Amino acid sequence: MTLGRIVKFQALLARSLSRTYSAVGIPELTQFRHNVKRSDYANIEDADITVFESIIGKRYTLQEDLQAYNMDFWHSVRGNSKLMLKPGSAEEISAILKHCNERKLAICPQGGNTGVVGGSVPVFDEIILSLGRLNKIQNIDEITGIAACEAGCILENLDNKARELDLVVPLDLGAKSSCHIGGNVSTNAGGLRVVRYGNLHGSVLGLEVVLANGQVLDLMSDFKKDNTGYHLKHLFIGAEGTLGVVTKVTLLCAPAPQAQNLAFLGLPNFDAVLKTFRSAKRNLGEILSACELIDAPTLQASLDHFKLNTPIEGFPFYMLLETSGSNGAHDLEKINHFLELGMEKGEIIDGTVASEARKMQEIWKLRELAPMALGKDGYCFYYDLSLPLRDFYSIVEVLQERVGARATRVTGFGHLGDSNLHLNVSCPAYTDELYHIIEPFIYEYTHKLKGSVSAEHGIGFLKKNYLKYSKSTDAIAMMRDVKHLLDPKGILNPYKVLN
Ligand SMILES: Cc1cc2nc3c(=O)[nH]c(=O)nc-3n(C[C@H](O)[C@H](O)[C@H](O)COP(=O)(O)OP(=O)(O)OC[C@H]3O[C@@H](n4cnc5c(N)ncnc54)[C@H](O)[C@@H]3O)c2cc1C
Repeated sequence: MTLGRIVKFQALLARSLSRTYSAVGIPELTQFRHNVKRSDYANIEDADITVFESIIGKRYTLQEDLQAYNMDFWHSVRGNSKLMLKPGSAEEISAILKHCNERKLAICPQGGNTGVVGGSVPVFDEIILSLGRLNKIQNIDEITGIAACEAGCILENLDNKARELDLVVPLDLGAKSSCHIGGNVSTNAGGLRVVRYGNLHGSVLGLEVVLANGQVLDLMSDFKKDNTGYHLKHLFIGAEGTLGVVTKVTLLCAPAPQAQNLAFLGLPNFDAVLKTFRSAKRNLGEILSACELIDAPTLQASLDHFKLNTPIEGFPFYMLLETSGSNGAHDLEKINHFLELGMEKGEIIDGTVASEARKMQEIWKLRELAPMALGKDGYCFYYDLSLPLRDFYSIVEVLQERVGARATRVTGFGHLGDSNLHLNVSCPAYTDELYHIIEPFIYEYTHKLKGSVSAEHGIGFLKKNYLKYSKSTDAIAMMRDVKHLLDPKGILNPYKVLN
């Protein structure tokens, strides 16, 4: 047993997300790969371009070099838009949507384009509405922790600003250097600290949203408690751009932790993982701020594709347990007690605990770079499921058996603390054969376990056929009614979420 506080990493990558990812080829157009039929939207005419140029100027009415905005982060879907608009204010978005609604021109709202379910790129020739210029942080209140910013503000930028005031944004994910707050809200993004801060339905206090007809809906609020009728903001949290365009957000930031520790543990089997999680909740209690699982093939992918070192290896499962508290000595005492208990019972076999920021970052890389590493195998089918904890890992084993040697790796990692598994099948290149072996099987299997086909990534384009496995027929009918009420012509992000 070598539970020490020194992590023996060599030089580590501190590269940004955009630089670590290298393209793996251009996918077939979505309309062909998935055999989709274009709905009866109008085609863009010269007169429309003139209108858009009069609203936002020629400079922000882009008709060339749109390939990167037509493809998603993982290069799994590709649209064929010939027009991207980059408005600079809610008023400009309002004027654009009013025109599009009158003309029945389809729109695809786009934030940082890090979404992984094909929601952020067009399927056909929808106009890409980029939120990138709405990037101002308007205010962060030191006393209340309430941050107000425009929707195109990059998550990491808001977090850096909050940290200057000894606060943190209650959301952290691997795409933080590129994703927007508006994109996070629109996907109800989860990430690494849901176990501590809950999801965005709790942290978002208010929104400003532009509706399909151009109406600017003010749902801004500075209060956690505001029981005045229906809470309309919740409709737009997780709506994936199908109900309105989010333009402004108020968010409750949390006090920055005064002491943090990160334990990286090796475990002998999945039963020990569950027992360790239970013990962490009981013995670390309020200071537990992240609880992640990495299986051996995932760790191996990170090691194979990035120059990372791991402090421990040779185990089937690893856990990352982070604590965030206000008293370092007190927190360490709790961690040591928790580790002793786990080791005595043989549930934890080996591990290391880091307390220095740089060392913790190095360990986090093993987890955060995992999706990118799997993509570097060639192509990766990514799944994001909520599953009952007892069945959390069996689905990985079932899929390993099912795909056999067709896959390079079948792996599982994810937010164990939220019952959220990221299941991955990497291979040298996309094939229809492998795709049909995995889907719909994986969603039917999840349905049988009463899980969710999308824990945190959303439905987008890629999962819309499987919504029925996680929502009742009545619930889907009501979703359709809401969509029709807010966007009767269906111009906002068509072909997404609902069939
Ligand atoms: C490496 C990596 C790690 C990730 N880790 C996590 C994770 O841990 N947890 C997690 O939940 N997700 C994760 N994601 C997925 C992704 O980062 C999130 O879904 C993120 O919230 C998307 O934000 P975005 O600004 O990139 O939105 P986009 O990808 O641009 O858009 C996502 C959806 O929101 C809509 N949209 C975007 N902005 C607006 C707006 N202002 N108004 C209305 N609709 C809008 C789009 O139309 C689309 O449907 C990860 C992605 C990557 C690549």
